[in-house]
Amino acid sequence: MEFLPIFYNLKNQLCLLVGGGEVAHRKASLLVRAGGRLRVVSPELGEEMALLVKQNGCEYRAKNYSVDDLDGVGLVIAGTDNVQVNIHVSEDARQRGLPVNVVDQPHLSSFIFPAIIDRSPLVIAVSSSGESPVLARLLRARLESLIPGTYGNLAKLVGRFRDQVKTRFGKINQRRAFWESVLQGPIAEMVFAGKNELAETMLKKLLDDTSTSEYTGEVYLVGAGPGDPDLLTFRALRLMQQADVVLYDRLVSPQIVDMCRRDANRINVGKANKKHTLPQEEINHMLVRLAKKGKRVLRLKGGDPFIFGRGGEELDQLMEQQIPFQVVPGITAASGCAAYAGIPLTHRDYAQSVRFLTGHLKNNTCDLPWDELIHKNQTLVIYMGLISINLICENLIAHGMPVNTHVALVERGTLPEQRVIIGNLGSLPTLVEQKNVKPPSLVIIGEVVQLHDQLAWFKGSSTSPVLPGKLNNECPKI
Ligand code: SAH
Repeated sequence: MEFLPIFYNLKNQLCLLVGGGEVAHRKASLLVRAGGRLRVVSPELGEEMALLVKQNGCEYRAKNYSVDDLDGVGLVIAGTDNVQVNIHVSEDARQRGLPVNVVDQPHLSSFIFPAIIDRSPLVIAVSSSGESPVLARLLRARLESLIPGTYGNLAKLVGRFRDQVKTRFGKINQRRAFWESVLQGPIAEMVFAGKNELAETMLKKLLDDTSTSEYTGEVYLVGAGPGDPDLLTFRALRLMQQADVVLYDRLVSPQIVDMCRRDANRINVGKANKKHTLPQEEINHMLVRLAKKGKRVLRLKGGDPFIFGRGGEELDQLMEQQIPFQVVPGITAASGCAAYAGIPLTHRDYAQSVRFLTGHLKNNTCDLPWDELIHKNQTLVIYMGLISINLICENLIAHGMPVNTHVALVERGTLPEQRVIIGNLGSLPTLVEQKNVKPPSLVIIGEVVQLHDQLAWFKGSSTSPVLPGKLNNECPKI
């Protein structure tokens, strides 16, 4: 993070603004809106600035900037069109340890202005750390259209009832659950519709009616997809930002874990080192224990929780203990890796069915129903197949699958470091060794693999060149 986003209380602080033109005026308006007192230094003032100075009773020094203009000041802004003056102001302010901003010159500034969405008392600030103010402004425009103008009223309503709710619900979890039901339900909708009085009546009623015991814990079993955070579902994201505790697997990428609520307790239950992995039993108990304490527990799993994810086992205990839960599907590795590697799992010409298999069976063997797998128009996707890759290839060949059947290995699929290794049934074991392929990797077997060269649009590394296929223009990734 280049800059720390903070919200600064300017009330009655004296701020120095050097410059009297349009640029300076924009900053002056902001400072005044935030309650700052203004000292404006400039030999002359533009029309707008002159008006602002007059209307707000600002101190105006009609002269060139000199260092004594900094006396008694708490914040400094330089917005002149003279580079030398701006540099002087920046250097002098820094020497005195004063926060300084030179408009559009992040390298001369100790703080920068974000793009702002003002729904006071709710204020949203967006910054590109000075890299691209235009991008920040575009994002602001998108947020503006997403966030109803009446959001400020909602914040005010919450503010009015904060103390009452605090008295009513002793525990922070209960208070959070109460506010979430207010802010995500019909009361918020009433405020957005401009019916503030009705919203207030509804809130009072909810406060009277809700029993404190209604807010017990629950568990969300959520699929986090194969790695790329863009592949999360909206619901996954919402629950990630709501949960008090997060239990996540080794397969869940750090960027995704980072998107969980800042103050949520995050527990890694599947460290890469096997010694530190929590046994499944222990995880099941932990879910129950935490939920019984009234926590909203997020069990975040790679891919889809119900595809080789042992999600079913985790739910058994919850059902037994009557703990409420919900399951959120995720994009499974097969879909994610196939799409990012340009391999359609089915295709009218090559495969009319697809089969997901695990290369790692319960008793540590790999005893798949080989005969059933030898079908010409079928795609096989093997999860956890790396350890038994020799055995898998040998058995498929022994049961009649042609040695030259196309195979793709996708390592760390959908992530920036994705590798796609193309070969055939005969060459795969050697390729795995030569290319030092590591888990998580997925094996895709079948004729559809041939389409990889035409359809790959993801810019991850690949052993075969990524040709500009016809999807190239339609799906730019970065
Ligand atoms: N529930 C998960 C699968 C868990 S089993 C899902 O639906 O995707 C773990 C196996 O999934 C790994 O051994 C690997 O074969 C596969 N896998 C998961 N994420 C992957 C990724 N990003 N790239 C390649 N394979 C992946």
